[in-house]
Amino acid sequence: MKKSLTVSAGLGLLLSGCAGFEPHAGWVEDRGQYKADTTSYRAISQNERIRYLVLHYTAVDDEESLRLLTAGGASAHYLVTSIPGSHGGKPVALQLVDDDKRAWHAGVSYWNGRHNLNDTSLGIEIVNLGYTDEASGRRWHPYQPAQIELIERLAADLIKRYGITPDNVVGHSDIAPLRKSDPGPLFPWQTLAARGIGAWPDPDTVEKYLAGRPPTARASVARIQQALAKYGYRIEQTGTLDEATRLVITAFQMHFRPADITGEPDAQTEAIALALVEKYRS
Ligand SMILES: [Zn+2]
Repeated sequence: MKKSLTVSAGLGLLLSGCAGFEPHAGWVEDRGQYKADTTSYRAISQNERIRYLVLHYTAVDDEESLRLLTAGGASAHYLVTSIPGSHGGKPVALQLVDDDKRAWHAGVSYWNGRHNLNDTSLGIEIVNLGYTDEASGRRWHPYQPAQIELIERLAADLIKRYGITPDNVVGHSDIAPLRKSDPGPLFPWQTLAARGIGAWPDPDTVEKYLAGRPPTARASVARIQQALAKYGYRIEQTGTLDEATRLVITAFQMHFRPADITGEPDAQTEAIALALVEKYRS
């Protein structure tokens, strides 16, 4: 208390005799009808508005993606086309919305305590057709190496620039698992995580939680629901394998266990979820 009084008294002395805080010459920004001193006094209580990076596929081709995302009711900060262009030897991402503006890519969404991620995220849309349901089953369309190369560079820059944590680099299906499947099981989350982009569990910790069970052994739905909620997913603690639970488990598997995305509550799924909780939530 004494300290703050001293500080106030000091400021009072500083102010006496002048019309206000005297800006330091050269530290003011001219904004037309007024100027702002953007440098002399800075608050320590602040953080980035951008906390999440959300990955998507567009499910349509280049032309249609561009049309929908520039002239339609949805948008994203960046679009990675099917074959990214090149300029001066570097791949080019299309920026459709400035980073400091809100793009409409997430819709009704939730991650780790926060709703409506459009307010706090950057969205990257990737041109990829998603999946086709065929007689032999669902076929997912692969991403092109050039797309992944560009995403790696773009994501690394955004993560660094805004201090986005690994667990906050998510897929649309992670934040809206009941209605979205993008970027799908062929998105190379593990490869990207190995290069510092996004979260991945430590294999030893997964083994620890597997505790000798076969990966496909049936696990407790309640424990999986609990672990997924703790990690960040919006999932009701019903204790039963209802349709919503199966969809959330499928979304989780598409991200962290893409070889098997049946939505079955198996031991490996539980172990991966617990390993992620241990690594990022404790
Ligand atoms: Zn999406």
